[in-house]
Amino acid sequence: MAKTELRVNGERLLARLQALAAIGANAQGGIDRQLASDADIEARGWLRRCWEQELGLTVRTDPVLNLWGEGAAGTEPGLKPLIIGSHHDTVPNGGRFDGALGVLMATEALHSLQEQGVRLRHPVWLLSFAGEEPNGFGISTFGSRVLCGRLTSADIARLHHRDTGEALTAAIDRMGGDAAAIDRARLQPGCFAGFMECHIEQGRRLIDAGETAAAVSCITGIYREVITVQGEANHAGTTLYKDRRDALAAAAEVVLAVESLIKDPALAGVAATIGHIEVSPNASNIVPGTVTMSLDLRTADPALRQQALGQLGKAINEIAARRQVQITRTLNLDQSEMPMHPVVRDAIHDACVAAGQRDQVLVSMAGHDAANMARLGPAGMLFIASVDGYSHCPQEYSRDADVVKGANIYLQALCLMDRRLDT
Ligand SMILES: [Zn+2]
Repeated sequence: MAKTELRVNGERLLARLQALAAIGANAQGGIDRQLASDADIEARGWLRRCWEQELGLTVRTDPVLNLWGEGAAGTEPGLKPLIIGSHHDTVPNGGRFDGALGVLMATEALHSLQEQGVRLRHPVWLLSFAGEEPNGFGISTFGSRVLCGRLTSADIARLHHRDTGEALTAAIDRMGGDAAAIDRARLQPGCFAGFMECHIEQGRRLIDAGETAAAVSCITGIYREVITVQGEANHAGTTLYKDRRDALAAAAEVVLAVESLIKDPALAGVAATIGHIEVSPNASNIVPGTVTMSLDLRTADPALRQQALGQLGKAINEIAARRQVQITRTLNLDQSEMPMHPVVRDAIHDACVAAGQRDQVLVSMAGHDAANMARLGPAGMLFIASVDGYSHCPQEYSRDADVVKGANIYLQALCLMDRRLDT
């Protein structure tokens, strides 16, 4: 059979999505499947059975709890594996598709190839990353950050679960990993031929355009700082306007200055948010003395980031001078953007266009494991339309027709990667 005629078993994929969504399902209609939870353990068992019994793979858990399904050999000796997958954990009260779709789409692609008697040139490995989402241990993209060397045993040794107090190292051993061998989980750059992750878009660009899927061009850079406004706490009744140095009123202007960045057409492609704020003393009869807040600024274009930060700096200086408060800013995270590899990106893009999708590539404004895998070898992503852009909530939804059409695009993209990547 010509590879372009290959099709996935859409019903099987949808049934597996439903089965995995039942693991960790809560009364609010969402899913609780955080790293090292009972639902995480159950999902791992479910995936292991699926990969072993239905696909005949050898399943192993690496030292940091990434789940690997290996054994699908290639036809050309010496070629490195194509790795496909995503993550099976969720945020608290999360949705059915974030992560799970990517794991099950990879599973279905390989299952379809096997069933239709097609072997690729490269071996194909399935991967479900551990702890992609933020969790009680205070980390995200846990598994992929260890694989690419951005997290080491020394970083992990310090981490405890904020609710249970369990050490992450203890959780790793309890779950079948090997905390003593964390640094051995690290992969060498160039150890795989290519990596592909499918993920829901978690935004509205595809659904608003009436499209099903698109390739990702670049994963956004993420810049975070803590902004502290220091004013003066004083009596709420007796302090006149002219004598106030109200930290919260000044902070409110900073929040609006941040919002003005994303309204500026010259900064299209920049997202900026103040999402966390603490007021002190936070009492109804005291003029606020201190405010601390978090700035999260994202863009795939470093020049735009500089421009946005420059504009914000000017606005903040003006607010501080006019209101007689001190505003200090502390850098928290400066993670550069990560372009997807052109060969993988084009394979995914070409498969999209062949399936009638618009000629476009999208920037991912969310972080993903693929950004860490891109540090090790050619990596790319396929986005599937999210209805109304909902994600990290029970309303998260992708239509069956988009899931199945997306899975066929994914399968074709995998075949194109196999043909075009020569390591
Ligand atoms: Zn995700």
